Amino acid sequence: MADHDVTVIGAGFSGLYQLHRLRELGFDTRVIEAGPEVGGTWYWNRYPGARCDIESVEYSYSFDPQLEQEWNWTERYAAQPEILAYIRHVADRYDLRRDITFDTRVTALEFDDATNEWAVTTEGGERFTTRFVIAATGCLSVPTRPEFEGLDDFGGATHWTWDWPEQGVDLTGKRVAVIGTGSSGLQTITAIAPVVGSLTVLQRTPSFAVPAHNHTIDELLADVKRHYPEFRQVSRLTRGGAQCGEGAALPPFFADLDDSTITSELERRWGNGGLCYQQSFFDLLLDPDANERAAEYARARIREKVRDPAVAEKLTPRSYPIAAKRMCVDTGYFEVYNQDNVDLVDLREEPLVRITERGILAGETEREFDVIVLATGYDAMTGALDAIDIRHGACTLREKWADGPRTYLGLMSAGFPNLFTVTGPQSPSVLSNMMTSIEYHVDWITDLLVHLRERGAVRVEPEVEAEDNWVNTTNDVADLTLFPQAASWYMGANVPGKRRVFLPFAAGVGAYKQIGDGIAIAGYHGFEVA
Ligand code: FAD
Repeated sequence: MADHDVTVIGAGFSGLYQLHRLRELGFDTRVIEAGPEVGGTWYWNRYPGARCDIESVEYSYSFDPQLEQEWNWTERYAAQPEILAYIRHVADRYDLRRDITFDTRVTALEFDDATNEWAVTTEGGERFTTRFVIAATGCLSVPTRPEFEGLDDFGGATHWTWDWPEQGVDLTGKRVAVIGTGSSGLQTITAIAPVVGSLTVLQRTPSFAVPAHNHTIDELLADVKRHYPEFRQVSRLTRGGAQCGEGAALPPFFADLDDSTITSELERRWGNGGLCYQQSFFDLLLDPDANERAAEYARARIREKVRDPAVAEKLTPRSYPIAAKRMCVDTGYFEVYNQDNVDLVDLREEPLVRITERGILAGETEREFDVIVLATGYDAMTGALDAIDIRHGACTLREKWADGPRTYLGLMSAGFPNLFTVTGPQSPSVLSNMMTSIEYHVDWITDLLVHLRERGAVRVEPEVEAEDNWVNTTNDVADLTLFPQAASWYMGANVPGKRRVFLPFAAGVGAYKQIGDGIAIAGYHGFEVA
């Protein structure tokens, strides 16, 4: 008999909820977490300005009405410390820590056909068996570490946004360089600009950013709390797993709108702020004209905000459709470039040659710094799974996925029985409010485990045909969109050698839920159960 019914890898939002669900149902469950604390993303990413881009009334658990009522979010978009406090509260409230082993990294998983169990090996050398494994390892949990020549030679301090010192870093009066202008970079730059002595931003690709219009939310929170269950039901059927203040209403089609309505719709969405700008038109990521119109509106806002036209132009994204890369949400990011002590280096004009003992050599200019901040992103969606040696007989998951992930519903992969992924590749995942997608996957997996237990079954895996169909569906949906036109982390383009395929399922959370519910109701169609 296996040492555990279920082993969950990771103690972020996914792993914690998974543990709670399974324990309630009497499954012997153990969670293994590489870090020293619960929280996942929100434990590791303590960089200045770290903040969620989804509204806090949406970016929170929905599984317990009491929890919903008792927790009070203070702002429209919660900052990292508040989210981490919430996760810690959840861990304590449901007494989750006693089944979590911290500071322990899973390095290998090996499936045994004779017992239908996985052998789990940890970095410390522990080995134990488990019937099922649920990888709640996170989509953005393995950072890319670009090999900048000379990084070790730098005489100043180097800090990665994904592993910011817990005690913080005093940047007052320092000469600081930030490499990277994705979400983490933008948030860091905006937060540190008021205190540093000088700031140099090294930018490879400019980002589109929509203003957050963040504010306190006492009234909104009280209103949502009055009808939270209904509110969540609506969110679960939207495309992005969040309502964007529009309830269940679908955005209009671009071609149905006259010119002035298009402008007023963009103004309205921009005025509301946040990622929901990308919902201005239903076909914003389908119709190049719709996309260009929304992109041009956003570009014009940069020109309004940045005084120096040459700097504004460098900050203006032109090489990819808006929202085809993860958009950023900002609070005064572009205005930072109006400060006299802020300098922008466009790495397309002045390529980064090397890090030196005193600073950074880009083009022919060496600039001196006290601190270099690296905000260079993640090996998204597959990185954490690739980092584990997952094998069944002669096959490894890494090899199977070398040309891109192959999954059924983003939940399982044929040939790797009894192994589930929460928000895995080929599910809506990173294109959505992750909390909606996490809860859906955890509930779906839990229901399947109960289904197996009721039948005395010990093994489940997808049929190859079902998986092939799902892979084709995912790719076909992506090909209908403008997403593949951007060299984004959604495409694996930020990781050298990674196969470029569009990783998430792009038809939306609501459509995905209908498919996933249908498959479950049909007796887990496409899964082999034994
Ligand atoms: P994670 O929080 O990533 O947790 C996974 C855990 O697994 C980690 O603690 C990790 O240490 C552990 N782990 C991984 N591999 C192993 C192993 N081999 N052994 C043991 N432990 C392991 N999502 C949104 O919806 N909206 C946002 O605005 C948003 N902002 C984000 C900002 C940043 C900077 C980042 C990095 C992500 C953001 N996300 C956002 C995505 C975010 O990751 C999810 O919303 C959510 O927190 C994921 O929870 P999770 O539990 O699935 O994964």
